[in-house]
Amino acid sequence: MGNVDANRQPVGISVLGGPTTVVDLAGWRFVIDPTFDGPGVNGHLTKTSGPAIAASALGAVDAVLISHDDHVDNLDTEGRRFALDAPRILTNPGAAGRLGTSAQGLAPWESVQLHASDGRRAVTVQAVPAVHGPADGDRDAGGNVTCETTGFVLTGDGLPTIYLSGDNASLEAVADIAARSGPIDVAVLFAGAARVPGRQHERLLTLNSAWAAAAAEVLRAKLVIPAHIDGWAHVTEGVDDIRRAFEDAGISEVLGLAALGHWTVPPTPTSG
Ligand SMILES: [Zn+2]
Repeated sequence: MGNVDANRQPVGISVLGGPTTVVDLAGWRFVIDPTFDGPGVNGHLTKTSGPAIAASALGAVDAVLISHDDHVDNLDTEGRRFALDAPRILTNPGAAGRLGTSAQGLAPWESVQLHASDGRRAVTVQAVPAVHGPADGDRDAGGNVTCETTGFVLTGDGLPTIYLSGDNASLEAVADIAARSGPIDVAVLFAGAARVPGRQHERLLTLNSAWAAAAAEVLRAKLVIPAHIDGWAHVTEGVDDIRRAFEDAGISEVLGLAALGHWTVPPTPTSG
């Protein structure tokens, strides 16, 4: 399988670094939370490594999914340029207003079906809740913990159902998604136990490793791919913590830990 390049996989998922993940599905190519800047200090956050694969190596994409546009670790300068070059951006409503005409805002549980004239199977992209901090945390003017954030669920006939969490620290949100959008075949969980001084009293802004394992169980996901576990100084848990948490939960067999920029191929769904 090897490294991600412009050639699309029938079904494949690859984390490029930080939250940035490529999803190939039935001829479609999606990228969530594009970040392609090199390492360095960016505002109050410090990036410690660049992407495993350059944006230019990806070729064309069909849609860029953006969980939130407020934080540079989810959308940086090069990532924003990449998104605005794409034919379509799907994101939360507030971010869509800021990003402009190529962006479509989806409220939680709202979905859009993507069709192509070339015979590719339709894929539905559903927005699902994401809570970017503790349940009792500081809220923005819109009532969102930290800021308006969305996850996504991708579905299609005969295709694995793929959940992309975005920056979410809420197991309640995960339980809602399992109930309303499940069964989930593949979960890409943004983990890493992000903590930022001065924000939410330095409490978790994303799942920690133990909660990621709990989320995997709640979702009954057959494959879990952790993202957002590297590349930034405020990410406090990495791949070893994830591995141990899934071992502790007795579910190591669902964990997909390909190297950054390498493909993971989900099992083919048995029905659908
Ligand atoms: Zn964020």
